[in-house]
Amino acid sequence: MTIENPLLAMSEKSGLPPFQHIKPEHVEPALEAIIQSNREQIKILLEKNDHYSWDNLIQPIEDMDDRLGRMWSPVSHMNSVVNSDELRDAYNNCLPLLSEYSTEMGQNVELYEAYQAIKDSPEFSNLDSAQQKIINNALRDFHLSGIDLPIEKKKRFREIRQQLSKLTSKYEENILDATQAWSKQITDEAMLAGLTESALAMAKQAAEAKELDGWLFTLNFPSYYAVISYADDRALREEMYHAYATRASEQGPNAGEYDNSQVMEDILALRHEVAQLLGFNNYAERSLATKMAETPEQVLSFLHDLAKKSQAMAKQELAELTGFAKQEHGVNDLSAWDVPYYGEKLRKHTYDISQEDLKPYFPETKVIPGMFAVVKRLYGISINEVSGVETWHDDVHFYEIRDQQDELRGQFYLDLYARDKKRGGAWMDDCMGRKRNVDGSLQVPVAYLTCNLTQPIGDDPALFTHDEVTTLFHEFGHGLHHMLTKVEHIGVSGINGVAWDAVELPSQFMENWCWEQEALEFIAGHYQTGEPIPEKLFKKMYAAKNFQAGMQMVRQIEFSLFDFRMYFEYESGQTGRIQSVLDEVREEVAVIKPPAYNRFQHGFSHIFAGGYAAGYYSYKWAEVLSADAFSLFEEKGIFDSETGNKFLHSVLEQGGTKEPMELFKQFRGREPEIDALLRHSGIA
Ligand SMILES: [Zn+2]
Repeated sequence: MTIENPLLAMSEKSGLPPFQHIKPEHVEPALEAIIQSNREQIKILLEKNDHYSWDNLIQPIEDMDDRLGRMWSPVSHMNSVVNSDELRDAYNNCLPLLSEYSTEMGQNVELYEAYQAIKDSPEFSNLDSAQQKIINNALRDFHLSGIDLPIEKKKRFREIRQQLSKLTSKYEENILDATQAWSKQITDEAMLAGLTESALAMAKQAAEAKELDGWLFTLNFPSYYAVISYADDRALREEMYHAYATRASEQGPNAGEYDNSQVMEDILALRHEVAQLLGFNNYAERSLATKMAETPEQVLSFLHDLAKKSQAMAKQELAELTGFAKQEHGVNDLSAWDVPYYGEKLRKHTYDISQEDLKPYFPETKVIPGMFAVVKRLYGISINEVSGVETWHDDVHFYEIRDQQDELRGQFYLDLYARDKKRGGAWMDDCMGRKRNVDGSLQVPVAYLTCNLTQPIGDDPALFTHDEVTTLFHEFGHGLHHMLTKVEHIGVSGINGVAWDAVELPSQFMENWCWEQEALEFIAGHYQTGEPIPEKLFKKMYAAKNFQAGMQMVRQIEFSLFDFRMYFEYESGQTGRIQSVLDEVREEVAVIKPPAYNRFQHGFSHIFAGGYAAGYYSYKWAEVLSADAFSLFEEKGIFDSETGNKFLHSVLEQGGTKEPMELFKQFRGREPEIDALLRHSGIA
């Protein structure tokens, strides 16, 4: 088995995953073998030592965790980006094994006592801050895994974890399947009026790929976005909105077929039960146990305060949009499928600019090297493409990062375009983390950067909207946090062990450079002529920066409050509260109310399947930090290398070794202030 199974072979020594050789049938045997071997090793470690130390206990456990992580990461990644029935089955069969193993470790009393013994020993004070943090986090996590519970409740805790891992996977599958299940073929060109040339070319290409006539539109975001923003045909926009907004629900064109309704109720009930088992009142409290925010009240008042500050502006923006649609276009009832469309028209009317005007200036061939040039100036790092590396799809590129001393600091895969069988959205994930091995060798961190951006049409390079460029910078920011770490213990290197509500600091921070003229000189240039963005166009773009910023702000607050209140106010045995909490939140903060059939929440994987449950507020929370951190660059110059180095050393290199507040203060010299965020959003 060892020889034929590439997952097992790669996990034994450090190396990149052999993506083209990983087959669904390798997955379960590899996982079973590693878990089995870990179990045996831990048993031996606990038996043979009468005095526990970092070297004889924790280091070997770090190595085991790392091996398991490196084996599982490519599997989970491929399940997200090149999904197939076989891989999905293999992946799902593994979830109970993983959940069982992790709960078993978390509830292992001997292991807990061994960690505690190290913490209480004189050795502890001699360990470095990363090692101490790993031990403190582990002790915290033993409690959060139910170490203190009586046997019956421990068992229940295990069952719940198993069920939750299956349910969250099912939730994602339903969204992917629902997204793929619907498409719209159009052969009558008249229906396509208003659509941009690039959107038409994209739809034509999609139809050709399926050997269909005419144009094909799908629920993949670039396709949906093109129609909802530009199609003059109101009925077409409505049809597409209806399909998109009801994905994975009991409503819409595929009603009931990939329905997440019950899955969501079950997830909510089980998370609540698990929180109560652990002695919390609800899952919101449980969520905060590992975050920077301290109490639910603190989170709620943060969000309410932000809502109060931005609502007037949002209302004013909506009034402006409504008035515009009425006066200029004779539309008296602005529906949900009209808002983006007239929004684009209003942007054009007010600032004489649309997202489309900028696209020729953001070809992939300029944006990617430009983004690398920006971070070279900031942190002195060089990024180069490496060819010949095995990947999961032809579209994927592979790069390495070197610092000024030519030391290899990180490597990453870049998978840019939307395609079938690929989960929507954009994210960074960890392929492996930085780690000093026992033999002295160094494992260099590797990241996956995944987006769903517009693909190239014909022979032209892919042309991105400015929003898409911003998304790319965001994920790249996460990637740098993961890859530029100097920490050599895996438990807190890179993004490991970073409080979740601080994790968006480096990512949102990077977005700022997409708005700076000095940086745009690197990342923008006309795809045919190489010309920079003309001064006039840049001025318009900048003037339109905060277009509908109030509406966007209250929308994010709506999501955050919905998420947090849903978990915070949940009571045992309750069902049917999801929609009503959402309705209440909308009543309180939203300026736009969607139609009653809207089932946005059925596709909100961040909070049901991802890591943001009772934590979606993290985006806004961390934006206070990122905006305030960036304000130092505004003071000193956006390419000031001293400030860049300070950010690199105080934040990016530190991983999860220290509390985020401490790192922030080290960089900024004081606690975070909200002013910069309000100013950047045009609210202050
Ligand atoms: Zn992010």
